[in-house]
Amino acid sequence: QALRKGGDTISYFDIDVGQAHARRADLALKLEQAIDKQQLSLYMQPQMAISDGSLKGAEALLRWQCDGEFISPAEFIPVAEQTGLILAIGDWVLEQACMMTAEYRRLGLVDLVVAINISPRQFLQSDFSARVEQLLNQYQIPASAIELEITESTIMDNEHAGILVLNQLKELGVSLAIDDFGTGYSSLAYLKQFPVNKLKIDRSFIRNIEHNLDDQAIVLSLCQMARNLKLSVLAEGIETQAQLDMLAQFDCDAIQGFWYSRPLAHPDFIRFTEPSRIAEPLHD
Ligand code: C2E
Ligand code: MG
Ligand code: MG
Ligand code: MG
Repeated sequence: QALRKGGDTISYFDIDVGQAHARRADLALKLEQAIDKQQLSLYMQPQMAISDGSLKGAEALLRWQCDGEFISPAEFIPVAEQTGLILAIGDWVLEQACMMTAEYRRLGLVDLVVAINISPRQFLQSDFSARVEQLLNQYQIPASAIELEITESTIMDNEHAGILVLNQLKELGVSLAIDDFGTGYSSLAYLKQFPVNKLKIDRSFIRNIEHNLDDQAIVLSLCQMARNLKLSVLAEGIETQAQLDMLAQFDCDAIQGFWYSRPLAHPDFIRFTEPSRIAEPLHD
């Protein structure tokens, strides 16, 4: 890299920073119109029970097709958070996910749980749980049909406001999952104070689990502790049979990852779930 020598030289570093800044500003402008232009959609990534290989749930993952180009949520979600657009986008996601949940239930997927990612700002809004309740009523789905995913820091950075919302959601009967568990600085003992139902072990612990003994030890003890604390546990990012076998050996409850399925667009998800749907319609 070119280091700045005199005041008249622009370093590559400055150019990179400048370009990244311009890119973010451009994305922010385009993201503002993304909802109106119908450029957003939700993909669904199936989640599987390890015990019997059955379909348990699906995580809703946001996709943005901006002028023909797919932009990764890893890039645009932080922009949405910085600009505050995450509130409108997050609400769109929540409503869309509830609508899709109702549709899956009509198709016979009555036990499927749809997991929805909630950003900290969205979660900590004072009327968040009221909005969730309103959407459950509007789309006539039981609270048990959805699960909200938050990260450790959502609670840790805002303990007082966070616990209020957690308790309201618990009251509603909505299940809470801690996403990317292990990447923050909280402990299970700390989290145990809060009404959460599930841990999602971050993919970074799974990626090299076949060869990395440290990762094996961490994941095994997370599974054991979760079990002792009566929390359900799911491993993210399972890509191989060997990783699946190891998690089964560790008594993990569920997995999500490319091995089972990539995130799927609506028609593909419908096709994927065909064998899981109730063959005969229920009569009352
Ligand atoms: P996340 O919630 O941890 O979602 C899991 C990510 O891992 C997804 O990336 C998924 O496509 C990817 N993944 C799943 N299985 C595998 C695998 O086997 N191998 C590999 N390499 N990757 C796998 P995606 O869809 O790009 O989303 C990235 C992040 O963006 C999410 O991480 C989440 O934090 C955020 N995000 C996505 N959709 C939403 C949303 O609707 N609202 C909010 N607030 N955040 C979202
Ligand atoms: Mg997630
Ligand atoms: Mg995750
Ligand atoms: Mg993750």
